[in-house]
Amino acid sequence: MISSEQIAFDQQHIWHPYSSMINPPPMYPVESASGVRLKLADGRELIDGMASWWSVIHGYSHPELNAAAHAQIDKMSHVMFGGLTHEPAIELCRKLVDMTPEGLDKVFLADSGSVAAEVAIKMAIQYWHAQGKPEKHKLLTIRNGYHGDTFGAMSVCDPVTGMHEIFTGVLPEHFFAPAPQIGFDDQWAEQDIEGLHKLLKENHPNIAALILEPIVQGAGGMRFYSPEYLKHARQLCDTYNVLLIADEIATGFGRIGKLFACEHAEIQPDILCLGKALTGGYMTLAATLTTTHIGETISQGGAGCFMHGPTFMGNPLACAVANKSLELLQQNNWQENVKRIEQGLKQGLAAAKELVNVADVRCLGAIGVIEMKEAVNTTEIQKLFIKRGLWIRPFGKLVYVMPPYVMTDEDLEQLTSGMVESVAEYRNS
Ligand SMILES: *Cc1c(COP(=O)(O)O)cnc(C)c1O
Repeated sequence: MISSEQIAFDQQHIWHPYSSMINPPPMYPVESASGVRLKLADGRELIDGMASWWSVIHGYSHPELNAAAHAQIDKMSHVMFGGLTHEPAIELCRKLVDMTPEGLDKVFLADSGSVAAEVAIKMAIQYWHAQGKPEKHKLLTIRNGYHGDTFGAMSVCDPVTGMHEIFTGVLPEHFFAPAPQIGFDDQWAEQDIEGLHKLLKENHPNIAALILEPIVQGAGGMRFYSPEYLKHARQLCDTYNVLLIADEIATGFGRIGKLFACEHAEIQPDILCLGKALTGGYMTLAATLTTTHIGETISQGGAGCFMHGPTFMGNPLACAVANKSLELLQQNNWQENVKRIEQGLKQGLAAAKELVNVADVRCLGAIGVIEMKEAVNTTEIQKLFIKRGLWIRPFGKLVYVMPPYVMTDEDLEQLTSGMVESVAEYRNS
């Protein structure tokens, strides 16, 4: 049992994500987690609507993932990847090459999503550099995007919603096109992409790549946009000789009803970033994939190699669990589960549309969003969720869930009804 002294130490000494050292938010100590439930130190159980930020797709403490981790740790937990290789990494990369969109044949294993984004950016810049075009080193992106918290990734996050405006002036300046306005199911109109087109037309000699989150913009606003936008963006990149980087760190591995969001538009990116659900949420691991052409071009450049190689690259323990997670994904009918969850979220959250403090309700795949009219106080609204046995962590105006794919209909019902009730009660508090 965690002590009050330990909690006090946490508050005094430990940074949590985006936390304050003078006004630390309340913390809920977790003792264990199993299936879709978190067990708090005081014995309460919460249904997890967040899948620990998109990652825990098969649920916590999954017997087969646990077994894969145990088996690997008895062989070796880690070994350097420079000059050495191992079966867990080889088999993982084989699976990634097979399952990702056509043409993505070269895999870089990175240690987190942000690093995967950094690697993608470096690949794009090295690709043009190797062809004697160092002036093609700027990036183009769309507003409301989120690509991570490290410097390169930050520089392509939305300057306002991306949480990084303090660093304006320190970060390299890139090009930002207006965010797509046409929703996932809405009628396409060419003007939605005019802003992007104009920027490409005027600046393509200096642009290395367009980086975007396909279909779903996650942490920058939980917005769902038209596959037509993505199709047109791919064509424009080809026309203007600019690479396309698809950041599928959140959308990858089935979350929005296709294995990868790019499949909704039937396009192939030049570079693909994966992360979050890759290990089923067990530990940090990410990957950046690219084409043979880009891989070989980079390698023919002056440097003769790709300039990146982290200490924990290709960590065998993480790779072994990722291998098992990808096997489970296939075995467990993710497609049916995501469809089932989409239905449950649509039905369960529909009632929120009637609430006076709600601006919009939207669902896509296993993502459900209630957008409020005003930003919520996370600490206050969380008390209402906890009271109903739920773990949900809103940000800004967004109260959203992306449950583990294994959540039962009963748990999903409790999650959605509790979400709607809490939002209704929050209005009155
Ligand atoms: C979470 C996320 C990242 C960053 O991943 P980390 O593992 O947190 O570094 C990058 N891009 C997208 C789209 C994400 O959702």
